[in-house]
Amino acid sequence: MNDGRAFDAPAPATPSAGAAALRDELDQALTDHLAWLRTWHTTLFAAPGDFADSARYDSHHLCRFGAWFARVRHQGLANQPAMRDLAARHAAMHDKAHALARAAGAGRPLDEAAYAAMMADVEAFLNRARILEKAFAAPGADLDPLTGLPNRQVMRRDLDREHERARRGGDSATVALADLDHFKTLNDTHGHAMGDVVLAATAATLEANLRPYDRVYRYGGEEFLILLPDTGPKRAAVVLERLRAAVAGQHLTAEDGAPITVTISIGHAPLAPERSPEDGAEKADLALYAAKAAGRDRVVGYVPEPPDDAAGQS
Ligand code: GH3
Ligand code: MG
Ligand code: MG
Repeated sequence: MNDGRAFDAPAPATPSAGAAALRDELDQALTDHLAWLRTWHTTLFAAPGDFADSARYDSHHLCRFGAWFARVRHQGLANQPAMRDLAARHAAMHDKAHALARAAGAGRPLDEAAYAAMMADVEAFLNRARILEKAFAAPGADLDPLTGLPNRQVMRRDLDREHERARRGGDSATVALADLDHFKTLNDTHGHAMGDVVLAATAATLEANLRPYDRVYRYGGEEFLILLPDTGPKRAAVVLERLRAAVAGQHLTAEDGAPITVTISIGHAPLAPERSPEDGAEKADLALYAAKAAGRDRVVGYVPEPPDDAAGQS
């Protein structure tokens, strides 16, 4: 009666090819195909005659994943080599299963080589679907929705990794905090929605002006944390000064066309191997406070307090 299909759920009416949709479809495809494989084997061994009238060779288009992919394959994230490769394995798997089902339905003995080839496709399809599902799960979950920057969870992971590298004798990193100046006034003057636009634009400007291996995160509110791996204080000051100038040079306009100027203050400190990553961020915050106190729109590096006895001697 069938070729072991166990998935009748239709694809959604308006298919999407965003990261969340891909993750959901892949998750569903994994569940569906494990069930399909079980039914297919049960039929093959217990009632191969039931395969007899399954004469359609394009069965991969009939399952939910196949139908969904056929509709989104030119759209968004679905339109990429990894997804096309997955779809090709999916089709190959179904084609081989179908050929075996037809032979079994006609009473022919199982072709072991063809069966092994089909199972290799099954394995490749399931593995690949699982890897892609993970890949599409990560970005959506880790990005701040307003700015598109990585969020604090990603930041924590990266800070720990850089700190560990410094602890093992690698070059030390710099951690910096950048805060928009007088942002409350900007919100009050132009409205919160315009404030959001300025925040997102500033995030993009920061990211565009970083070196390839530096990273910027939304730390919270109107603050960004910047991680500069393998960078000491002197070099950090140069890189961060470039970021400050890029933000001050942004050409932003209000809804009425009036120019909006926005500046940032930046404090930075080393990610010291002998201290915690949090300590680096706290010291950068102290330097940021000093930058604000000194008039804003500037970069200030953390200067360690002299030890007590040194202070006493002077
Ligand atoms: P300073 O130069 O001392 O940093 O002054 P400031 O006004 O930027 O600092 P303050 O801490 O007084 O105010 C921060 C403002 O940032 C207040 C808050 O409403 C605004 N803000 C925080 N997050 C967002 C956001 O996501 N969108 C918008 N539009 N505003 C935000
Ligand atoms: Mg702030
Ligand atoms: Mg501020």
